[in-house]
Amino acid sequence: MPQRIYFDNAATTAPDPRVLEAMRPYLDEFWGNPSSLYAEGRQAREAVDRARAQIADMLGAESGEIVFTAGGTEADNLALQGTLLAAGLSGSHLVTSAIEHPAILACCRQLERLGVQVTRLAIDGEGLIDPSDLERAIRPETRLVSIMAANNVIGTIQPIGALAQVARSRGVLFHTDAVQAVGKIAFDMRTQPIDLLSLSAHKLHGPKGVGALYVRKGVELWPLLPGGGQEQGRRSGTENVAAIAGLGLAAELAAACRPAEAARLVRLRDHLIENICERIKNSYLIGHRWRRLPGHICLGFDGLEGEAIKLLLELDKEGIAISSGSACSAIHAGQPSHVLEALGFDAFKARGSLRISLGRFNTLEEADRFLEVLPRAVASLRPIRRLAKAG
Ligand code: PLP
Repeated sequence: MPQRIYFDNAATTAPDPRVLEAMRPYLDEFWGNPSSLYAEGRQAREAVDRARAQIADMLGAESGEIVFTAGGTEADNLALQGTLLAAGLSGSHLVTSAIEHPAILACCRQLERLGVQVTRLAIDGEGLIDPSDLERAIRPETRLVSIMAANNVIGTIQPIGALAQVARSRGVLFHTDAVQAVGKIAFDMRTQPIDLLSLSAHKLHGPKGVGALYVRKGVELWPLLPGGGQEQGRRSGTENVAAIAGLGLAAELAAACRPAEAARLVRLRDHLIENICERIKNSYLIGHRWRRLPGHICLGFDGLEGEAIKLLLELDKEGIAISSGSACSAIHAGQPSHVLEALGFDAFKARGSLRISLGRFNTLEEADRFLEVLPRAVASLRPIRRLAKAG
């Protein structure tokens, strides 16, 4: 039985064994509460402080600007709700995009019910947001702009520096959901006018349920979880020390490996794109050709619209884990992706794409095996479509 191939690193990544090793002592040996003043507490506090410094180093930030959260969703919610609560909800205006992750979009819908006005910027045919559209959308009452650094469905990387600069020049805070981008593209808070940035450990070969929000010094933010005052009062609750230690090392490794790893993943990605488009008639790449995440491929197949779920189950049988480009969880399986709809796909076509996302542990051998299996799987489904049509 050949080893399974995991090509869904945008959903989550395998924890790096070094990260697991770094977490273990804080589960079985140093289990003190980091707020305690005695030795057990100080040992736990050291781990939290080290992780904070590791993340700050990766982002070119200061340690005091990092707030630990229980993942990307919480970091996104803290950024949006925290800054708008501080600014006063009613009558405030927020600009975001039509292709954000549900962590942002659902939070925006809730804020609208509380009196916040929301503008959602459109994208072009390759998934890019035009900074001049942002310029036009900003009003005197705009308090925050939130635009993702890279999209989780199509992999397109936004011109985040230019977008952040527009917000800065108009005196508006800029948040970016960088959950998919951190560790794959470089960030430096010393030169980028980003005020808030969300990240999540499990997209970086770290553990699930832990993330962080970068909050530039001086930015006012109300907590979503008021309580014992941990994280400078921005996120109360006893810290998940082992997970935080894991996130810290995952960030350090990501920063150290990034240039070489990104270059290798670009080669692997382009090898797959070229060969798939050559071997499978009527297959096409969705999103920008080169302004895309290093290991990210989103594909459509003419004649297989609406069949992505069948295709991914067919590949699963062959030992390959990939995602459909439609709403990418079992909860929303088969629903058309709002990202593909924003690209102009109709609901039917928006259910027909595949997302292949590569990570640290994928190899050329795996890519070549996938290239053997995929054309067969597509061919096995195309006749079904033709028969269904004829019927
Ligand atoms: N933002 C983006 C762009 C994501 O891709 C994800 C996860 O898929 C999240 C936010 C949510 O992160 P988490 O799973 O850590 O809550």
